[in-house]
Amino acid sequence: MIPVFNYVTGKFDPSIHPLFINLDKTDIPVSRKGQYLRKETAESLSLMLKDFHKDHPEIKISVISATRNFNSQKVIWEEKWTGRRKITGISSINEIKDPVKKGELILQYSSMPGTSRHHWGTDFDINSLNNEYYSKGEGKIIYHWLLNNASKYGFYQPYTAGRDTGYKEEKWHWSYLPLSKQFLQDWNTLYSGNGAGFWKELSFKGVEHVGNLAPIYVNSISSECR
Ligand SMILES: [Zn+2]
Repeated sequence: MIPVFNYVTGKFDPSIHPLFINLDKTDIPVSRKGQYLRKETAESLSLMLKDFHKDHPEIKISVISATRNFNSQKVIWEEKWTGRRKITGISSINEIKDPVKKGELILQYSSMPGTSRHHWGTDFDINSLNNEYYSKGEGKIIYHWLLNNASKYGFYQPYTAGRDTGYKEEKWHWSYLPLSKQFLQDWNTLYSGNGAGFWKELSFKGVEHVGNLAPIYVNSISSECR
């Protein structure tokens, strides 16, 4: 397979990829060790956080999830698919017999492996995976600041409110557009050029039922991220 295929589908190890940096070697606060981003993403994020702290020295923004490659996304997906990991609002996934419905429930917040923007080293989640957090107190201050300032550093929110397809709103997920715009294009070119062959090297539970939904989820993003 050509390298760009492996890159945009997350079939690589960011810890040994020369274009990635371990956030432990930067001044970016993280919730756990051993998280990676593209160097360009990390540099711009570091600048943005410095400026945020000038305005709000008392509030901490930390990265809680950065690059997840195919294998780590596959673990998340399959734990949800088999019911080992709970899906918000669903008591038992195993009671849902229609595999497409089951996939769509997981797809509210989790992407199929091979289709996540977290593969690219451009996207990361901050502070809390709960939209409510961003509606009051520190969370509200952070989100408001990001809406007004993040674009100056190249960061945009792909999963905004008001889209009628794709993942639900995610106020915690931000993308470094100077790089991610190209990776989105690459992903679409590879998907449309490969047809069913796209999934040949990307196996995970349920792919035969939901694989064809991937382009909808990949492309249902805010207009500024397209
Ligand atoms: Zn995310």
